[in-house]
Amino acid sequence: MNWLAFESYFRLGFFASGLLVFWLAGLLFSFRSRAQVDTSRWFHNTVLTLFNSLLMRVLLPISLVALADQVSESKLGLMNWLGLGQVPNLLLSLVLLDCVIYFQHIVFHKVPWLWRLHRVHHSDIGFDTTTALRFHPIEIGLSLVVKAFVIVALGVSPAAIVVFEVLLNFSAMFNHANFSLPKSFENFLKVLIVTPDMHRIHHSVRQPETDSNFGFCLSVWDRLFQTFTARSALDLQADNIGLAEFRTAKDQQVHKLLMQPFQALSPKSSKSDSV
Ligand SMILES: [Zn+2]
Repeated sequence: MNWLAFESYFRLGFFASGLLVFWLAGLLFSFRSRAQVDTSRWFHNTVLTLFNSLLMRVLLPISLVALADQVSESKLGLMNWLGLGQVPNLLLSLVLLDCVIYFQHIVFHKVPWLWRLHRVHHSDIGFDTTTALRFHPIEIGLSLVVKAFVIVALGVSPAAIVVFEVLLNFSAMFNHANFSLPKSFENFLKVLIVTPDMHRIHHSVRQPETDSNFGFCLSVWDRLFQTFTARSALDLQADNIGLAEFRTAKDQQVHKLLMQPFQALSPKSSKSDSV
């Protein structure tokens, strides 16, 4: 049961340091200038993040780590049946969970009512570390259900789920950061890991680009399943980030973000037209 006491500090430490480092680096080495985006987004994105964290604490009957703990004690799931040790369980869990999250991301883009939830993340007209945290609480809840199902089906260990959650969170804050790495280093990193330049294309207003580069942590899935876009047709330093239908400062306010999935859109501003 040690994990349960330890994991929240571990996660909080990585979360706070990642947020600080990647947000500050985005300020110091800005890819898009601050003048270009409404910085009040930082306030609204942060309030939404705090609201979601509190909501999940209140609503969740059990944390993913506690679930994984029960699963491993009861020897449930494929990897426990196969008798895999801690290290193979950890490595396999990280790769498989990342793959599941990649496909989950595609489903959130393709199914209209799920897109309504996910577009809260995409309607950010800026692209920085605070964007990485901006999700509708129902999307977070659904994603937790998917992860819980994977934990039970595969027998993901408590250690693996802690490491995966930290990695996913950390890489999301990194690949949404408002900086561009030196080209040669970026090209090297991009072979395995999703970089800010690669993920920024996923936030382009141009719909075929939004429907590509779905990976969060490993970049291999986009290459393997041919959803990879190497470069944008648009200038992403200019005002070409976000969604065509949500571009005012009012659209970025936290109460608007919470209500956004329930907002009817004119047929003209549906996703297929938002090029
Ligand atoms: Zn997306």
